Amino acid sequence: MSSLYERHRAVAPDWLALYYRDPIELTHGEGRHVWDADGNRYLDFFGGILTTMTAHALPEVTKAVAEQAGRIIHSSTLYLNRPMVELAERIAALSGIPDARVFFTTSGTEANDTALLLATAYRRSNQILAMRNSYHGRSFSTVGITGNRAWSPTGLSPLQTLYVHGGVRTRGPYAQYTDERFVDACVADLEDLLGHTRAPAALIAEPIQGVGGFTSPPDGLYAAFRRVLDRHGILWISDEVQTGWGRTGDHFWGWQAHGQAGPPDMLTFAKGIGNGMAIGGVVARAEIMNSLDANSISTFGGSPITMAAGLANLAHLQDNDLQGNARRVGGLLIERLRSAVAGVEFVREVRGRGLMIGLEMVRPGTDEPDPDVASAVLEAARERGLLLGKGGGHHTTALRIAPPLSLTVGEAEEGAGILEEALRSVQDEGA
Ligand code: PMP
Repeated sequence: MSSLYERHRAVAPDWLALYYRDPIELTHGEGRHVWDADGNRYLDFFGGILTTMTAHALPEVTKAVAEQAGRIIHSSTLYLNRPMVELAERIAALSGIPDARVFFTTSGTEANDTALLLATAYRRSNQILAMRNSYHGRSFSTVGITGNRAWSPTGLSPLQTLYVHGGVRTRGPYAQYTDERFVDACVADLEDLLGHTRAPAALIAEPIQGVGGFTSPPDGLYAAFRRVLDRHGILWISDEVQTGWGRTGDHFWGWQAHGQAGPPDMLTFAKGIGNGMAIGGVVARAEIMNSLDANSISTFGGSPITMAAGLANLAHLQDNDLQGNARRVGGLLIERLRSAVAGVEFVREVRGRGLMIGLEMVRPGTDEPDPDVASAVLEAARERGLLLGKGGGHHTTALRIAPPLSLTVGEAEEGAGILEEALRSVQDEGA
């Protein structure tokens, strides 16, 4: 009898990567912990890619899903759907976007694809501005605006994409600048680029780049961009698939770190809102959302069962101030990690905010990425009972920490302790 891993390998695409030398099968979870098929328990610092937002097996979500499943699982958008309208109302009010309309999809990819459709239709342009090192999804349209080679398997695209500087603060040609000069240089680059183009439809950006390794610009960059874009009528789309719902602690949406020039024209969301149920969506000003001159539908988008989960999950998040928890516990965790890496020479940087923290690995004494050491730490942490994520631009050299937002101080301490041991064990092996 083949192992599950062998069967996976035989039947799944080769490009569907699995974590770990001996990949694990997670069979159940509770709170911030998960268990594998061999009975090993792990502290979950990745939440299934920032998707288990509140907690594993949150009773409120389980109950909402079970009750809705017992009534009706699916009806389609052809019929009135109370949970969908209720969740749309709540998201519209939270979005900060005036006159907001909400369209639900089943993934972040499809949410961004919709935003691209809207922007290009509204502006009658197929040019898009995107950030270097970005990730926006796996569909044909979204890989065409993804500025991360590792996740962009084709250069063919219906869109013409122009990549702008600024998503990565500590690498690239402006890395040595002060924050103020960095912003000025990126704005100058954008202005220069716009002098050479027709009329781009939109700029799409992740406030903190997720797949790219939790990199970000100084606060205010996108507000500065916004002022330039406004002069040209170019829309601003904030991809909040990873940064939404209070994960960054300081803000409910990532764009709010750049809010000086007002909210974006559109924001896209997915991952955390459903706590694992497939919800994505786009919020846009009515004028933009209504600019399509044909029907459009997502059969599964807004299905009652996913919306019921989203409503229960969002209520739990807000009633328990999990954004505040992300700020407090995330603040402690990042401090604890900064002291843990003191003397670990292959850690170049600990960065992030709230419960979205990245550690970048390099060859000691250089700026050269070291994907092997990042993998070794990921493995060593798992052996000690801690699940982490990976990410990065040209190379996968960042470890990503993004636990459920209900993480306790004790769990943050425990996870930081395990990670410190894992880092030191890799350091000792390399010595
Ligand atoms: N945008 C961002 C910022 C993401 O991180 C992701 C997923 N990693 C997506 C879009 C695509 O979302 P999905 O995988 O749900 O299609």
